Amino acid sequence: MAKQYETVIGLEVHVELATKTKIFCSCSTSFGGAPNTHTCPVCTGMPGSLPVLNKQVVEYAIAIGLATNCEITRVCKFDRKNYFYPDNPQNYQISQLYLPIARNGYVEIETGDTKKKVRIHEMHMEEDAGKLVHDEWDDTSIVDYNRSGVPLVEIVSEPDMRSADEVLAYLEKLRMIIQYLGASDCKLQEGSMRADVNLSVREMGSGKFGTRTEMKNLNSFKAIARAIEGERQRQIELLEEGRAVVQETRRWDDNKEYSYAMRSKEDAQDYRYFPEPDLVPVMIDEAWIEKIKMMQPELRDEKLARYKKEYEIPEYDARIITESKHMADIFEKAAAICKNPKKVSNWLMVETLRLLKESGMEPEEIRFSPENLAKLVKLTDSGDINSSVAKQVFVKMFEENTDPESYVKEHGLRTVNDEGELRAVLEQVIADNPQAAADYKSGKEKALGALVGQTMKIMRGKANPGQVNQRLKELLG
Ligand code: ADP
Ligand code: MG
Ligand code: ZN
Repeated sequence: MAKQYETVIGLEVHVELATKTKIFCSCSTSFGGAPNTHTCPVCTGMPGSLPVLNKQVVEYAIAIGLATNCEITRVCKFDRKNYFYPDNPQNYQISQLYLPIARNGYVEIETGDTKKKVRIHEMHMEEDAGKLVHDEWDDTSIVDYNRSGVPLVEIVSEPDMRSADEVLAYLEKLRMIIQYLGASDCKLQEGSMRADVNLSVREMGSGKFGTRTEMKNLNSFKAIARAIEGERQRQIELLEEGRAVVQETRRWDDNKEYSYAMRSKEDAQDYRYFPEPDLVPVMIDEAWIEKIKMMQPELRDEKLARYKKEYEIPEYDARIITESKHMADIFEKAAAICKNPKKVSNWLMVETLRLLKESGMEPEEIRFSPENLAKLVKLTDSGDINSSVAKQVFVKMFEENTDPESYVKEHGLRTVNDEGELRAVLEQVIADNPQAAADYKSGKEKALGALVGQTMKIMRGKANPGQVNQRLKELLG
């Protein structure tokens, strides 16, 4: 009988924190910008420069630690991780090895109907490296230090996950928590959230873990799922051939759907870690932690509970909407303006989700404002536009955050409530379609549909179909 294998996965997740300035200097952290313009002697590793810790980094880290049920380390220190690479101008990275800021936490994940805890081994603070740009035409490499010194936390899980589904649920949970805290926007594509996947396989029932590899370069949830499947199969094939898995770092190539060895796995010793001598330990007392707890915004579960009480929308809808902090913000603001939460929720649940899916966008990337969504709802509530026009306007609004009121006005899309104009069109339609009119009169209800359709076409969708129906019946009556 063929052997059965179990996949064992642990993640190392890097998250860029949303501070305005870097972790050890006052340079801007904003994304983009001309190369090497967000730099100073500290973040370019000039001799004699000294780091000064950004307090906001510690506060975000504590907030994330608390929200992921970690113990917060009271005396927290930084360490130097020494290695040479051109994107690392100091030849060391300031990180935390011995006393990371948070330890022993967990998050609860849901896959299908099963709930499970994924334990967090530890979370530490560190600085990001610069970015190397390789120019293949010129055969040169240039370096941009704008990202050098951007604050990161690294969240290290225990090897508790067993499938790609669990990994994605874990990442989505982390992302949701951190976005709600406002501690990061967690965009995989832009690299503000990065996951390294440690994976091993073992025979089902075995009590011992197999040798793992670590995969890097995963910049979307889809790539992560494919990488897990690809690496799992590669390792199983090795074992089936009686060969050993080598502990190493591998680079996932999402186009070839295969991982390639990058380097053999290095140990902590290889980095000659030692306590960072330029920074004092951070003493975190109870009062500080309490203050951060007090300042924590409403998190997802609290929001969900409140939605159930405050709004008459199905629980399923509330779940989807609150999964994204951005979507929840739009919902609440739009509902407050137009006083019609049900309709706002419908626009989000149906058209918004459809267009997001079609364009491969995340809810975080929704561009329309709650004000504009509220205007659209008002326009339909008042009968100023009918539902097919509303959908058309919505697409515009989704694409460019167009103001629905001005758009309707500019394009003359307002429903025609002018009885005289409508009546003239109806009479014309009846005259042009004598057969359909006769059919209806002789009892064929269906024939009315054709006349309504003709009318709507002439009115270019601006008439109210209910009203057209009503008037036609009266005229043919
Ligand atoms: P190192 O210090 O060598 O990087 P760690 O113990 O810190 O190793 O583990 C790094 C990551 O690898 C953690 O997320 C952990 O859960 C995961 N991991 C450790 N052993 C295994 C294994 N056998 N299979 C899968 N993942 C593992
Ligand atoms: Mg590690
Ligand atoms: Zn700087």
